[in-house]
Amino acid sequence: MTRPALVVFTRDLRVRDHPPLAEAARAGPVVPLFVCDPAVLSSPLVAPARRAYLRDALGDLDAALRARGGRLVVRHGPFVDEVLAVARAVDAEVIHLARDHSPFARDRERALRAAAAGIAVRTWDHLTVVPPGALRPAGGEAFRVFTPYWRRWREGPWRPVVGAPSRLVVPDTAADRPGPELADLPLAPLPGGERAARDRLARFLRRGLARYAETRDRLDADGTSRLGADLHFGCLSALEVVRRAGAHPQGEAFVRQVCWRDFFTQVLAADPSAAWRDLHPPRRPWRDDPAAFAAWRDGRTGHPLVDAAMRHLAAEAYLPNRARLVVGSFLTRTLGLDWRRGARHFLARLVDGDVANNNLGWQWVAGTGTDTNPHRVFSPRRQAERFDPDGRYLRRWLPELADLKTPDLFDPPPLERARRGYPPPIVTDLRPRPPR
Ligand SMILES: Cc1cc2nc3c(=O)[nH]c(=O)nc-3n(C[C@H](O)[C@H](O)[C@H](O)COP(=O)(O)OP(=O)(O)OC[C@H]3O[C@@H](n4cnc5c(N)ncnc54)[C@H](O)[C@@H]3O)c2cc1C
Repeated sequence: MTRPALVVFTRDLRVRDHPPLAEAARAGPVVPLFVCDPAVLSSPLVAPARRAYLRDALGDLDAALRARGGRLVVRHGPFVDEVLAVARAVDAEVIHLARDHSPFARDRERALRAAAAGIAVRTWDHLTVVPPGALRPAGGEAFRVFTPYWRRWREGPWRPVVGAPSRLVVPDTAADRPGPELADLPLAPLPGGERAARDRLARFLRRGLARYAETRDRLDADGTSRLGADLHFGCLSALEVVRRAGAHPQGEAFVRQVCWRDFFTQVLAADPSAAWRDLHPPRRPWRDDPAAFAAWRDGRTGHPLVDAAMRHLAAEAYLPNRARLVVGSFLTRTLGLDWRRGARHFLARLVDGDVANNNLGWQWVAGTGTDTNPHRVFSPRRQAERFDPDGRYLRRWLPELADLKTPDLFDPPPLERARRGYPPPIVTDLRPRPPR
């Protein structure tokens, strides 16, 4: 009998367009495995909303594998120990794994290879549309400016989408090892897993895509896809998403946005330290001001759009991109606080938290990352006037100001603030802040 292949799922929780699963299923018996590693799941940088999404996604993946005659083996414990314990128990010939690029994932892969003695470890590039490193600028390892990357990236060629295996043979020698990490979680802010993600994608392609270019920045419209968590956990294949959206006559603006995800991933793949280290040194040292950070975090800065957005994040584990830009710029450029504090807070809250997109997004806003621009500062007031002209977003998240008319709503007069218990602005000069 052919020895089985172990397919270790990580951030590729799907059966469609999963090249290693498809190949292993063609070749013989397969053991699909997910390891709940407490080193990941107990980290304060993994938002409860993300754990809840993961729980849904694992349930859905198990159902999809069962529908094909298999099942998902779930083990709780240190990643390398559990993968190797299962590999030995089933006498696996090969371990398949997605190549991932965060510092944590790279260490994990290295440790697995070192310990796998005699079992082949084969890594695959299916987390992005184009594998990191496939496109390189002249004389460099990775693109550090988006537009030239986008121009090359859109030309392809892209690999074809791979169908889901129709039948799986899973030997019954692999045992689950239950654990507590995913028990007792709240409901996910949006249903997780491949099936729910495909429904969301279909709805967006049908109803949202044509107007995406006009509405994506509006704060008062649900104008984006909300596919961030689906893409982060790989319940959707980014390749399939851009192929389907790109076939639409008005698909380009959206495809371009998904390209940012590949762009940041290739930056991180070329230099994993970019997750937490400045790509360019900041122009001035960061200030240390715990009270200002707390006001930002809790939505008490007295700047309505910043406060509305931070309350939105706390309530829904999500923020539209425009709001992420405004609160990121306010923390780093206006308050002069270190982007890493903001990045950690976002990872601890967002359902779509993703080290590449988040940390390099923060560096982009802070001016230490790609596409650096020392003059890029977003004024919360001007951004609200432009992207929430009737104040609908502000009224939704700041009920104490809801009866104010525009334009007072954008910057309430002192008396109106005092009457409603809304704080005065913690800063009035919005230019980038010098060190204290
Ligand atoms: C400070 C800051 C932090 C961010 N943190 C994250 C994060 O943790 N996880 C995350 O996925 N995105 C992050 N982004 C990027 C972007 O804000 C989100 O991807 C987007 O808001 C998710 O909502 P959506 O799926 O409706 O977006 P859509 O506009 O519908 O975009 C579709 C998909 O394209 C990708 N995408 C879109 N814009 C960007 C971008 N600027 N950079 C990278 N990928 C992008 C995402 O995968 C997104 O889900 C951050 C941006 C900033 C400025």
